[in-house]
Amino acid sequence: MRLSTITNYAYGATVFLTLASGTVMLMASSAEQTERAAVEQRSAFDQMTATLEEDVYRQTEQARSFVITGDPTHVIAYRREKAELHSVEQRVAHLQDAGANISELGALKQALRWADALVDEQEAAIQAAQKGDGETGRKILFGDEYGRELDRVAAQVGKFQYMLDQRTEASVRRATDTARQWRFMSELMLGATALLFLCVLYFILKQRILRPVVRLSDVVTRLAAQDFAAVPPELPQVDEIGDMAQAVRIFRENGLERQRLEQERDADRVTRDQLSRMTQRLQGCDSIGDLVDIVGRFAPEIAPGFAGRLYIQDMRRNAMVQACQWLEPRQSQAPEFAPSACWALRRGQTHKPTGELIDIPCEHLGGQSAIATICIPLTAQGESIGLLYFEQPDNVPADQLNRAEKYLEMLAENIGLALANLRLRDALRQMAMADPLTGLANRRRFDAVFKEQIALAESKDAPMACLMIDIDHFKRFNDNHGHDAGDAVLRAVGDVLHEALREKDCAFRLGGEEFVLLMPGFNLDQALDRARMVQQKIQDLRVEHRGDELGPVTASFGLAAFPDHGRAETLLRTADAALLRAKSQGRDRIVIATVRDAASQVA
Ligand code: GH3
Ligand code: MG
Ligand code: MG
Repeated sequence: MRLSTITNYAYGATVFLTLASGTVMLMASSAEQTERAAVEQRSAFDQMTATLEEDVYRQTEQARSFVITGDPTHVIAYRREKAELHSVEQRVAHLQDAGANISELGALKQALRWADALVDEQEAAIQAAQKGDGETGRKILFGDEYGRELDRVAAQVGKFQYMLDQRTEASVRRATDTARQWRFMSELMLGATALLFLCVLYFILKQRILRPVVRLSDVVTRLAAQDFAAVPPELPQVDEIGDMAQAVRIFRENGLERQRLEQERDADRVTRDQLSRMTQRLQGCDSIGDLVDIVGRFAPEIAPGFAGRLYIQDMRRNAMVQACQWLEPRQSQAPEFAPSACWALRRGQTHKPTGELIDIPCEHLGGQSAIATICIPLTAQGESIGLLYFEQPDNVPADQLNRAEKYLEMLAENIGLALANLRLRDALRQMAMADPLTGLANRRRFDAVFKEQIALAESKDAPMACLMIDIDHFKRFNDNHGHDAGDAVLRAVGDVLHEALREKDCAFRLGGEEFVLLMPGFNLDQALDRARMVQQKIQDLRVEHRGDELGPVTASFGLAAFPDHGRAETLLRTADAALLRAKSQGRDRIVIATVRDAASQVA
């Protein structure tokens, strides 16, 4: 039952009891009135009957005085008394109207009848005395009979008064008892009302003031200590306590909101820190492998719950190739796909096919997306160079999702930038190491590779051959057909060397019209075969420039091999010495280095 209903009932009961108590008070007062009326009636009857006996005696006195003295003034006085007695009778006749009961009236009437009999005797005595027979008159009035009758009247009046007393006393007692009972009941009700009122007051104080205030104070203390699990009680009452509860509720909601914002800010800071750390690490990457490793580690931390993959574009094959994955994505299992199979790559924008609006899933997802996916292209100067693919976790609140997506975009931006930098660095390195005219590695590249290869060969004691190549009379091509024609010859020879490459071989243009072929793992015989093959292919070259045949191209070769010709580090110089000999012996030939060649290099 609601508190207000209980208090309303209590108010009703209090009002009822108060009214009932008032009514009982009125009843008590009415009983007292009855008591007062009975006493008043008794006193009225007393007044009416008290003089009756007295008057009978006074009348007797006057009549006796007359029969003794014969003085007529006694007769006059007698008549006056008799008249008064008569009026008493009349008054007594009204007693019935005044509430006397029948037996009382019977007793009084008997007394009056006997008084009338006395009057008859008095009249007879007065008449006898007036006729001069005073003796008879005296006999009547002073006789024993008259005395007895007089006593009898007195006794009858006494009896009437006794009966009256009895009745009055009984009715006064009854009225007193009733009044006492009513008063007692009234007092009882008043007491009950007061008790109920006190109970209601206590109940209201405790239920509506004390208890809510204690609970509110407890909640406020906990909220002040940042314990937002404390929930303010629901107090719908429209009063100051209700207002206080409302204020505490608003205070808690504000606190919760502040806490949520703080948590969001903290989470944001952590994510930004991770992003910044990842960016720093990416800047230190030396290779795509480093980048892939960093992305694989940081991505699941920056976007928790988002399973995903990194795809990097393979320029030569024009394919997006999976580089790494994290948190086991469920869709898009293909290790590579054409860029046109992804809408994000096609449009150069983030593609999020699942949402409330109709959209098209990417082809690399099998053309249908059972879960929410996000494809973010990695771009560099408007060109897609990779793709970040994510699978959205279930039951993520919308605001959290928006924040996460923001970070995914930042992640993609940073990875894209790092990837582009790596590619640029690779391209520059490639350019720095390559000869632009022939596409072969240049002198700088040769120095690095040669160092690696001789170390490898010496440590493993593995054979290695080095073939130095110099085009014969190259200057003539320049002189006779122009510099461009010379370039065409250089490109043609470069192509021959390129084609002659085995997997481990490395062809270099050392400068001008000089080339070198490094052949790790080749012994002298194998290298000689390869040199002959190259010589033949150069001899077979038919280079044209602007429609003109440039004439035969030949080259001189100097071949040296490790370990045949001494230490590996002198191999190039030994081969060069052999080449010099080839030139001096008439060109267009292969000269194998001799031990002397090698010895002269050591010296
Ligand atoms: P040899 O048979 O003794 O080697 O005679 P050669 O003419 O081939 O050698 P020489 O050293 O006398 O001449 C080399 C010429 O190559 C000199 C230079 O102008 C030319 N040259 C160097 N680099 C290039 C280049 O990149 N393109 C062209 N077209 N010519 C070049
Ligand atoms: Mg030369
Ligand atoms: Mg030359």
